[in-house]
Amino acid sequence: MRQPKKRGFFMHFSATLGHNIKANFFKCKSNNGFESDKNGLADYSPKDRFWDVHKLQADSVEQIYQTAKEFERYAERISNCSGVLRFAVSEEGAEKNLKLKEAKFCRVRHCPICQWRRSLMWQARFYTALPEVLKAHMNTNWLFLTLTVRNCEIGHLRATLQDMAKAWQRLIKRKAFKPVNGWIRTTEVTRGKDGSAHPHFHCLLMVRPSYFKKYYISQSSWIDLWQQCMKVPYSPNIDVRRVKGKKGEDENQALERAVSETLKYAVKPRDMISDKDWFLELTKQVHQLRFIASGGLLKDILKENLESNQDLISENQDNSFSDDKTRLAFNWQSDESRYRRFSEGDIV
Ligand SMILES: [Zn+2]
Repeated sequence: MRQPKKRGFFMHFSATLGHNIKANFFKCKSNNGFESDKNGLADYSPKDRFWDVHKLQADSVEQIYQTAKEFERYAERISNCSGVLRFAVSEEGAEKNLKLKEAKFCRVRHCPICQWRRSLMWQARFYTALPEVLKAHMNTNWLFLTLTVRNCEIGHLRATLQDMAKAWQRLIKRKAFKPVNGWIRTTEVTRGKDGSAHPHFHCLLMVRPSYFKKYYISQSSWIDLWQQCMKVPYSPNIDVRRVKGKKGEDENQALERAVSETLKYAVKPRDMISDKDWFLELTKQVHQLRFIASGGLLKDILKENLESNQDLISENQDNSFSDDKTRLAFNWQSDESRYRRFSEGDIV
């Protein structure tokens, strides 16, 4: 399998997140009546409109953290996250292309900006490492597995996640897991309508072709397996599907979708913002719990423990971008809910 094209990967990434983000974006713009002012980052570069969306969410998260004494420090750090963005500019024909070169990230775990950049970083690392992994395993298939448990009270989230991590350790030692050559597992927690927590694992499994013949595991067998490993008296919901292209899609595009689904946010910004107490309790509950793990041939390809400010800036290795060292600056305008040109901050 060849390495998926970067352009495709970003298009898919946008499509995955697209819906709500678009809605929020247009809402925040029209509310403030800045349609005629073309000084916004999104006016310069429509693909960078997500900055406005995530920074607006970050402002909301900052306000929530401000209400809790023990998280005031997080609020302060988030308020200083990505205040100024500096981009290199390349011009291809009439089109201007921006590439982020400088930003200061707060790296607070649940900062919506940093969570988004982290997701991009992981996806980029995955695609960078993939050709080498596939060299010796051309005949690989992929499975996308979602493992859930029954919703728990938010106050029991930590214990539930710890049980799930133990169950995972049991699962990967089972005979059924033998055809799995490599795996990446991430944790997502969503908010139930009743204020409960719904923790689940998204897993990308690299399997030998024999999985679909000799070692095939049906959905109901996966349920049994996960139930045994979780040691629960009920059948947990799970979803397992082979990663394959839908109509008109090739295999790479299907993999991109599964990768972006696996390596996306851990907590939806909408869930963070919609219930302050739920989110503050979640912050306490998941403190220092790891939400990403990998094994087999995919072990450490994401370098899960490495994350510098620079890593969150450059989401891909696009060396084709000519760079004359000049920088175009934009800064966040809370009252306008957008990044706007900040020519005083340019580097010329
Ligand atoms: Zn941040």
